[in-house]
Amino acid sequence: MTEQTIFTILLVIITFDFALERILNYLNRKSSKKPIPNELEGIYDEVRYAKSQAYQAEVSRFGTFSATFSFVILILAIYNGWFGMLDQWIRTFSPLSLVSPLIFFGILFIVSDLINAPFSIYRNFVIEAKYGFNKMTAKTFILDKIKGYILTIIIGGLLLGVLIYFVNAIGSDFWYYFWAVITAFVLFANFFYTSLILPLFNKLTPMEDGELKSSIQSYCDKVNFPLKNIFIMDGSKRSSKGNAFFSGLGKKKKVVLFDTLVEKHSIPELTAVFAHEVGHYKKKHILFTTIFSIGLMGFMLFLFSRMAYSAEVSWAMGGQTSALHLNLMAFGILYSPISTILGIIGNVISRKNEYEADAFAKETYDATPLINGLKKMSADHLSNLTPHPAFVFVHYSHPPLKERVRALEA
Ligand SMILES: [Zn+2]
Repeated sequence: MTEQTIFTILLVIITFDFALERILNYLNRKSSKKPIPNELEGIYDEVRYAKSQAYQAEVSRFGTFSATFSFVILILAIYNGWFGMLDQWIRTFSPLSLVSPLIFFGILFIVSDLINAPFSIYRNFVIEAKYGFNKMTAKTFILDKIKGYILTIIIGGLLLGVLIYFVNAIGSDFWYYFWAVITAFVLFANFFYTSLILPLFNKLTPMEDGELKSSIQSYCDKVNFPLKNIFIMDGSKRSSKGNAFFSGLGKKKKVVLFDTLVEKHSIPELTAVFAHEVGHYKKKHILFTTIFSIGLMGFMLFLFSRMAYSAEVSWAMGGQTSALHLNLMAFGILYSPISTILGIIGNVISRKNEYEADAFAKETYDATPLINGLKKMSADHLSNLTPHPAFVFVHYSHPPLKERVRALEA
C-alpha cells in the first residue's frame, strides 16, 4: 500500500469513528426524552425525572464538545504530519532506537493529559458537582493524577520498553514473545489488582460485624463462598454514586461493595447485589473474560507485527524513515474499526453474563430485593431509563434496567 493510500485511510477511519459516535449519541439523547417505561413506574417523581434528563443532556452535550475538540486536534496532527515532526525533533538528540519511542510516547502522554485535564476538571467539579455527585476534593484529584502518572511511567514504560526491545532484537516474530509477556502481566494484574493497585487509590476494609455481615454470612454458607473476601471501599471519597464489583482470580478473588452503596440500600438489597457478584464468580465470567481479552491481544499483536517495520506507514504519519512509534500510533487508528467490532462482541457477551448473574442471584437468593436495589441505584445515578437500542448495542456492558427487571420478574 502506498503512503498516500494509508494517509487517506487514516483520515477516513478517524472521521468515520467520530461520525458514528455522534450519531449514536444523538439518537441516545433523543431517546432519553421519552416518558418513564411502565415497568419502571414510580422510580422517579416528575421533578427528579426531569433532573435526570437534564443531567443526561448535559453530559451528552459536554461529551460532544470534548470529542469534537479531540477529533479536530487528531485530524490536524495527521494532516500536517505533526507526529512525524515530533519524531524528527527527537532524532536530533536521541539516536537510540530503544529510547526514542519512550520519549515520543512520554511527550504525547503529557501533552494529551494537559489537553484532557481541563475537560476532566469541568466534568467532575462542574457537572457532577451540580447534580450532587462529586465528592472529590482538589487534593484527591491532584493526588490521583500524580499516582496515575507514576503508575503509567512504571507499568507503561516497562511494557513499552520490552516491546521495543523485542521488535528490534527478534524481528517480525516478536509478537508471540510479547504476547507471552503481556499475558503474564494481565494474569498478574488480575490476581493483584485489589491488593496492590486499588489500595493506592482507595481504602478497603473488611466488613464490620452487624446485620449486614450476618445476612451475607448466611448467604455465603449457602453458596459456599468465603466471607473473608468481601470488602467495603471508600467510594465516597470521589463520588456519591454507589457500586459493587467482583475482581481477581482464584484465591485472590474479592467482592467489593462501595460505602455509598451500603449507606443507601437495605440489607436484603445489599445481599442480593452481593449474590449477583458471586454469580459472576460461580459462572466463571471473570475467567472467560480474561481468556477472551488475552486472545484478542494476541490477534492484535499479530496484526501489528505485519506493519511494525513499514516505512510507508511512517511516511503517512509524516515521518521520514520507518519508526516503530509512528507505526504504533498509526496502528492504533487503523485497528479502531476492528476494535469497535470486537468491543460490540465483548458487550454482547457481557450483557449475557449480567443476565446470568441476575438469574443466579434470583435462584440462590431472591429477585425482589435485587430489582429494588437496581432500581434504587439507577434512580440514584440519574441514569437514562430509555437508552436508544443502537447505543445500547454498541456501548452498554450491562442490559438497560427495564430489560433486567423484566428478566428478573419473568
Ligand atoms: Zn454484574
